[in-house]
Amino acid sequence: MSVIYASAGDTVTCENGHPICDFLEDVAVGKIPDLHKQLGNWRQPEPQKGDLPKDHPCAVCGARWFNHPATLGVTFHFQDGWRFQEGKLSCA
Ligand SMILES: [Zn+2]
Repeated sequence: MSVIYASAGDTVTCENGHPICDFLEDVAVGKIPDLHKQLGNWRQPEPQKGDLPKDHPCAVCGARWFNHPATLGVTFHFQDGWRFQEGKLSCA
């Protein structure tokens, strides 16, 4: 059984709620190997291969929507806040 981190159609937003892109498929916790395949419907220019998403803040306001803290893993921001790989799920 894998725990879902994001479901197809979940919208990634910046910290101020601007839509950035959508998840195109269900992604299990710890299974974020190909962001270019898993993210789509970009509302701003898509980061190119080799670019780090964190170097592409919200095009509207400059806020972050992606983080990769060493101890927490890949972290995206959604309408309801930052979704951590584990912290969020323990209360789901
Ligand atoms: Zn924004």
